[in-house]
This record gives sequence, C-alpha cells and structure tokens, in this order.
Amino acid sequence: MNKAGHVALGVAAGSVLLSFWPSGAITSSVVYILAVAVGSLAPDLDHKTSTASNLIQLSTKNRRFAQSLGSLLLLLAAALWGLPRLGIEVDEGWVRSAPLWAAAGAMSFLLAKLRSLVLLGVGALLLAAYAIYDWHWFTALAGGALLLLPMVKHRGIIHTPEFALALSVGAYAYAQQSELWMVQAISMGLIVGWWAHLVGDLFGREGISSLFSKRVHLAFRLFDNGGIGERMLAKLCWGVSILCWILLVVPVSWKIDRLSALFL
Ligand SMILES: [Zn+2]
Repeated sequence: MNKAGHVALGVAAGSVLLSFWPSGAITSSVVYILAVAVGSLAPDLDHKTSTASNLIQLSTKNRRFAQSLGSLLLLLAAALWGLPRLGIEVDEGWVRSAPLWAAAGAMSFLLAKLRSLVLLGVGALLLAAYAIYDWHWFTALAGGALLLLPMVKHRGIIHTPEFALALSVGAYAYAQQSELWMVQAISMGLIVGWWAHLVGDLFGREGISSLFSKRVHLAFRLFDNGGIGERMLAKLCWGVSILCWILLVVPVSWKIDRLSALFL
C-alpha cells in the first residue's frame, strides 16, 4: 500500500474509533487524528526511501552528490598527505591542511547518511533519558527500535505484529501514567495509526510476517500497490472519515432537532 492509501485507511480507522469513544474536546481529537496520520506512515521508516525516511534525509540526488564530494575530499587529503612521502614536492601550507580536507570529506559522508545519523542519535537520546532520568520503559523500547532501524530490512521486525503489540502496550502504559492530554492523544493516535498501517500492508501482495517464524505470513493480495483497488479503498476511507467528523463536530441536539424536523 502506498502512502496515500496508508494515511486514508489510518485516518478512517482513527475517526471511526473516535466516534465510539469521543474525547469530548475538539483540540485533543484533532491532535489525536494528526498522530494517527503520522503513525500510519511511521512503520515505513524501515524503508530507506519512504515518505517517513525522506523527511530525515537529503534527496537521492543530493545524497549522491554528498557521497561523491566526500570521496573527492578524502582523495585530496590522502594525496596531500602521501605525495611528500613519495618525494613529490607540495607546498607546506597545503600539506598541513590535509586533516581539514579529511574532516570535510567525513562530514560530507555523514550528510549522505543523515537518515541513519538521525535515527541513531534520537535512539541514543531516548535510551540515555531512560537510563539517567528514569523515564518510562516505553522510551527505552522506542530508543532501541530507532537504533535498530538503520540495520533492519524493509517489512522486517518493525512490520511484525509482535513489535506492534510491544509498542502498543508501551505507548498505552505511558499514556496511562501521564496526566497531559497531549501525551494521551498522541500515544493513542500512534497506536491506532501503526496498526492501521499493518492492516493496510496485509491487504496488499507483500503482507506481513510473524517475528518468530517467517512461515507465519499473511497476505490477502486484494490489490496492487497504488492500483485502482487501493485508490478506490482510499476514497471510501476519506468518505467514512468525513462522515465521522461531521457527526462529531455538529452538536447532537442540533442533529436531533433537524432529524425530527425532517420526519415530523
Ligand atoms: Zn509498510
């Protein structure tokens, strides 16, 4: 399923659930539904060029440029360091600048790997917050998952129902102990969005697998990625979402008045 389908399905699932358990306040409902949309794209952070990943890295063209520039700068540094040792005369100032070119080359390589850098950095910060400030164990789980992300393959551990379950239990427990409505709305939104993403992948060809055995694999193969079936489902989902929000926003008393006026 493509990003448009994932967001449509996630927002519809989130809106339907919201109609059953309305939060009462429109602000928290909006924050919740935004978190659902983010959560419905988040599992594809394990895909190197997904929409989620592209938010934290340079474009493909710029990544290639940074890589080439990095190689060039390292080559220059190696030449400045090596040529005098081979008996070839090089200006003293240039020779001494070799470490600077090497550092610039390394920086350029890091820019090309920005996605890994961001994931590892945020993961390490969350783990540190858990260890030092005694944050909720959910932060350790999220931090560990982020550290894993640069290394795992697409539709691997991050796409398993077991991981989703651990994440849900963690996020729910975190939301329960927090008194901030914002934390509760975001946590619940992420859980709903994450599961909706897995359901979306389940409809497609690739499906999802269990963490413990690749043989436990489910794929309904209802439509191709981005195909007509998926686009129709997305439209239906937006229709359902709009209906849910109309019912949510328009006061019930007003609705009853209108309905009775229609029929009586
Ligand atoms: Zn996916």
